[in-house]
Amino acid sequence: MATLLRLVPCTDHSAFPMILVDARPCPGRRPRVAWGIVRITIIGCSGSFPGPDSPASCYLVEAEGFRLLIDLGSGALSAVQRHADLYKIDAVCLSHLHADHCLDVCDYSVARTYHPDGPMPRIPVYGPTQAAVRLGRALAADPAAQDGRPGAAPGHGITDAFSFVTITPGVTEIGPLRVTAAHMNHPVETFGFRLEHAGRALAYSADTGPTEALVDLARDADVLLCEASFAPPDDASAAALPQGLHLTARQAGQHAARAGVGQLVLTHLVPWNDKNASLEEAGQAFGGPLALAAPGLGFVLD
Ligand SMILES: [Zn+2]
Repeated sequence: MATLLRLVPCTDHSAFPMILVDARPCPGRRPRVAWGIVRITIIGCSGSFPGPDSPASCYLVEAEGFRLLIDLGSGALSAVQRHADLYKIDAVCLSHLHADHCLDVCDYSVARTYHPDGPMPRIPVYGPTQAAVRLGRALAADPAAQDGRPGAAPGHGITDAFSFVTITPGVTEIGPLRVTAAHMNHPVETFGFRLEHAGRALAYSADTGPTEALVDLARDADVLLCEASFAPPDDASAAALPQGLHLTARQAGQHAARAGVGQLVLTHLVPWNDKNASLEEAGQAFGGPLALAAPGLGFVLD
């Protein structure tokens, strides 16, 4: 069994400890810790739909005072407010347009557009092609309003609150972060991200089936935040899983091992799975420190 990683609670954001502690540090591996440069807070990590204890996917990344939300899935907007002022978010980055990764962008547009002090300035939303159209239609009671057609009911559009930027594979600078996007193996266009700052790197799988693209994206990253949606009870069940959709916890561990990442955090945990079984499975494939994601916990890349 690999070393268990202890994520730190950050419900009191002002007191967020700037340390990430290995419960049993690996020989030769220096203690993870000290002054935080990039801080990651897990806002939501429930896979495919919100669970009883967590919203769907959402992660708050902070560096040099810049605040970036990676994904904003169902139920996440509520939990974001426990960790950040909604009006001090600088950008949102969407991995793909499945509801559990993007739908709360609609509610966020309402919060920004109808604030008592007046509409808040637009902030960028980085996302796949058609993000503005898809989210605009989800927001509008009358889809014609979003399309600007004559006779449409009045109402605001998603672009009143956000300026959309289409993600393409490659490197983009978002605030102080260097963000590399790569296509993952999922039924809709989906990007995994590698976030780099001051020589440290966080890789995020988003949703994906097995793919070399994730191994390349996560190569030597300090932390891989990797989905582990499937939890087959046996090999026969594993063989029958749909292809090109999600990873098992064991496959998450295998990808982490092949990429040579320092630490692995399992996320996109589907409510009906046994989380501890997933941790055990991943630990059989990855020998480094690992942990289960949980809302309100976080870590720092020092
Ligand atoms: Zn998905």
